[in-house]
Formats: sequence, C-alpha cells, structure tokens
Amino acid sequence: MASTRASCLCGGVRFEIDRPLSGALNCHCGACRKAQGSAFRSRASADSAAVRFATGADLVTYFESSPGVRRGFCSRCGSPIMSRFDARPEVVGIPLGVLDDDPVVRPAFHVHVESKAVWHEISDDLPQYARIP
Ligand SMILES: [Zn+2]
Ligand SMILES: [Zn+2]
Repeated sequence: MASTRASCLCGGVRFEIDRPLSGALNCHCGACRKAQGSAFRSRASADSAAVRFATGADLVTYFESSPGVRRGFCSRCGSPIMSRFDARPEVVGIPLGVLDDDPVVRPAFHVHVESKAVWHEISDDLPQYARIP
C-alpha cells in the first residue's frame, strides 16, 4: 500500500503514514467539537512508528485536553495534526480532515452522541453510541 499523505492548512507541517489506518469513527464529544471547530471529529488510528514527518514536526504543539490525551496542532495555522495518548504511545489519532490522500477506511460509527451539538443532526445510518462502546 502507498503511504497516506497529510498536511496542515499553512503547509508548514507535512507527514506521511506508511501503514493502513484503522478504527475510523466520528466523535461528538465536547473536546473534539472545540478542537475541530465543527460538529464532530472524524478520526482514525495509526501506528506511531508508521508516521514520518517530511517537515514541520517542530511546529506541532501538544495540548493536554484531558489527562493523558495530548492533541497536537500546527502552531502557525491551528490545524489539528494528531493526538498522542500517554497510556498507548504506540498509537496516534489522526483527524481525517488533515489527510491529502484517501484514508481507505471510512468512519464506521458515532461515539459520545450524548454530548452531540444541539444544532447538528446525524443523518446517516451508522451505529450511534452514547459514549464509547
Ligand atoms: Zn500549519
Ligand atoms: Zn472526542
């Protein structure tokens, strides 16, 4: 499989993921809503070892949004880049919107639906979970 390319809005951060993404879902929690500035966050998981920065690794700033969860964003343009988890350093969370290539995986369900934005209606038939299944 070819690697999956990703970049931020300003182009300062560019990286590739050399292994298939997995675990794609839409998260409706309040933290994801704030971090994305949108109704929900579409994200997938990748192996940390498969992430290769082409440029801008030093531009990525990490914010600990909940204990042990560090959300990385571009310090120049604010694009979400990837999340790191203290308890699972071998995995990173990738927001699908940062990808330039088809991630191949598709979000398979919705989580944290009990925290969903009141102004957003889920209009697909994917399974919905109040929190995390
Ligand atoms: Zn940027
Ligand atoms: Zn979330």
